Amino acid sequence: MSDGCKDTRAQTDSFIRFVRDVYRTDEFIPLHEPRFQGREKEYLLDAIDSTFVSSVGQYVDRFEADCAKYTGAKYAVATVNGTAALHVALLLAGVKRDEEVITQALTFVATCNAIHYCGAEPVFVDVDKATLGLSPLALAGYLDEFAEVRDGAAWNKQTGKRIGACLPMHTFGHPADMDGIMQVCEKFQIPVVEDAAEALGSTLNGRHCGTFGRLGVLSFNGNKIMTTGGGGMILTDDETLAKQAKHLTTTAKQPHPWQFVHDQVGFNYRLPNLNAALGVAQLECLPLFLEKKRRLAERYADWGKQNKVLIMAEPEAACSNYWLNVVLLDGLSERDAFLTATNGQSVMTRPVWEPMHRLPMYRHCQKDALANTEWAADRVVNIPSSVL
Ligand SMILES: *Cc1c(COP(=O)(O)O)cnc(C)c1O
Repeated sequence: MSDGCKDTRAQTDSFIRFVRDVYRTDEFIPLHEPRFQGREKEYLLDAIDSTFVSSVGQYVDRFEADCAKYTGAKYAVATVNGTAALHVALLLAGVKRDEEVITQALTFVATCNAIHYCGAEPVFVDVDKATLGLSPLALAGYLDEFAEVRDGAAWNKQTGKRIGACLPMHTFGHPADMDGIMQVCEKFQIPVVEDAAEALGSTLNGRHCGTFGRLGVLSFNGNKIMTTGGGGMILTDDETLAKQAKHLTTTAKQPHPWQFVHDQVGFNYRLPNLNAALGVAQLECLPLFLEKKRRLAERYADWGKQNKVLIMAEPEAACSNYWLNVVLLDGLSERDAFLTATNGQSVMTRPVWEPMHRLPMYRHCQKDALANTEWAADRVVNIPSSVL
């Protein structure tokens, strides 16, 4: 916590009292739980009655159209989960075996796993403190040192490998500096895929996260701002890519009234109609969720000001969905004391993900100094953020 001479124990106690007051309960308070207060049951029963519960059905088409309209993307293709969406989006961006994909070490493991599923390797570049998303400055620094543009693509001069894509992530729903990232990637001719899994409802200068790059990805996992149980979405403005996305995620079956022909190795990644029915109802509630989350974030900010504790605010020019609120502690020991005290009193809090470059399967990957990543890893803690 920010100021040298104050009682962190008293701050933590005040925090626990505050959260209990906000959620009006003496029971366990989770980090994030879903809310079903709209037409979820009605649409689910309708999907069951229609017998179309699987990967074909009206709710899938409707959910895709609704998501495209909401985000402003020309096309939206629904998938079984966000990780599958990331996998296919990277393939469609042109990522191939033995290539490299630049991303951040401060992310959920699915970002890196999707890169690995393509047979490619992640390269870790630092984040900005203000966004906790990929830093355009760090990206430019890395590419200026290690990359050269040849034959319309970027190549790593040290490894000789092609840099197939750049995959920034919008951390906890706070938009990364996409203008800066796009500028650097255009200069080096690197396609951008956005991991907007956490950022449904977040915009930067009025533009929805996931619509800046060639492709973007959303997740509707149970812990996200809205849920389909499990689910994801690929966003793009490119008609050809959208068609390929649908083809690849539906086992690459050629459309035909009765013939059963597949023309490449595809994936069974299509979102079932049952899940899409839930999604249509949840998306109807999203504006209300966003409003309530913004109000909760304001209350946390007020508490932070009164108690001299840093609470993360949305970056400049951004409108964040405030999916998970963040408290910034003074350092590792203060962080751990806070985690122990809050969780010990059944108020769930969680440190940021162990950064990817420290995990056994990604330890060997190339990286820059990652100073801000290490800084964030010692200080960032997520606090209860369910819609009230
Ligand atoms: C949730 C999440 C994903 C993956 O989504 P699933 O639907 O759980 O597969 C990917 N990246 C990030 C940053 C996420 O938070």
